[in-house]
Amino acid sequence: MSLRDLLISQIRAQGPMRLDDYMTACLLHPEHGYYTTRTPFGTSGDFITAPEISQMFGELVGLALAQAWLNQGSPAPFTLAELGPGRGTLMADMLRASARVPGFLKAVDIVLLEASAVLRDVQADTLEAYTPRWIDSIEALPEQATFLVANEFFDALPIRQFVRDGTRWRERQIGLKDDVLAFGLGPAQPQPTLNERLEDTQDGDLIEDCAMAAPILATLSARIATYGGAALVFDYGDWRTLGDTLQAVQNHDKTDPLADPGHADLTAHVDFEALLRAVPPCTPSRITPQGVFLERLGITARAQTLAQTLSGAALETHVAAHRRLTHPQEMGNLFKIFGIVPQGSAMLPGLET
Ligand code: SAH
Repeated sequence: MSLRDLLISQIRAQGPMRLDDYMTACLLHPEHGYYTTRTPFGTSGDFITAPEISQMFGELVGLALAQAWLNQGSPAPFTLAELGPGRGTLMADMLRASARVPGFLKAVDIVLLEASAVLRDVQADTLEAYTPRWIDSIEALPEQATFLVANEFFDALPIRQFVRDGTRWRERQIGLKDDVLAFGLGPAQPQPTLNERLEDTQDGDLIEDCAMAAPILATLSARIATYGGAALVFDYGDWRTLGDTLQAVQNHDKTDPLADPGHADLTAHVDFEALLRAVPPCTPSRITPQGVFLERLGITARAQTLAQTLSGAALETHVAAHRRLTHPQEMGNLFKIFGIVPQGSAMLPGLET
């Protein structure tokens, strides 16, 4: 039975589904989930992420975290962690670049939070030279200094959507229309947790809520405030999201999120305000465009050095990758980054102002 048929029979039996439940089923269903059954990244996959575009991304991020580790007195042992590591490419590039930092590899404890068994296997292959371990929840991070990166992790977390109706909200649900999955709206109800959004919305506006995101950041911040460390979060989104940002991508093209459950990537824009609200007791940086951050870390100089060893098509790909990561009309502006450090610690390089 396909995931679509499973969902249709579930809706027939139990009524319309919430969007977060639909997203969880599509992305992480043990037999049919998008991430649990495939490796979707790369030019041959459905979409491409920054670490898959160029090694420069992981090298610079790795060196930024290694600098934070040095700034905090090189704690040992320490955790180098990643949320949603995909193919493990970012972690591999970070480790290769930071291998030159004296003592770093000797003290590192590599910890990966990954929900997909298929991707855990891919990560194990990519990181064969190291000894990573996997955790199932953020609470399982070891109680020691923690330097963490997350790229396109928070956008994969399930959201709910609500349409404003007076001072109440109607939840967007997935039901059936002529036996086909279709969006509908639930009854108008008060939603006390959304009260703040009554200030910046009007009747009929759609807002999104990602319940999992802030608690993850709150746990991480508490860990970093207590034991030291730093985190870097990359994603696309805005200070506060307004409107429907749910997106399905298949074969590098946008598609209907209900058309082919389990076979398309589903994401939503990240609400940076909600994330940053969970950061105290740590200090956050400003939210900075990815392109600005990478330029400050010296991506152009690194690109020029790498270019000297390349020619022909490889050189063209490399030049295009640099542009794609940094140019305001490509990923440079759409993707944002913020860092967090313990109060009183130096901010991560590239995010000081
Ligand atoms: N960071 C990688 C992959 C981004 S895709 C890159 O930049 O290429 C999202 C990643 O998060 C995948 O590895 C996916 O399996 C993982 N993921 C999604 N939801 C998750 C969850 N709830 N818990 C843990 N990992 C999750």
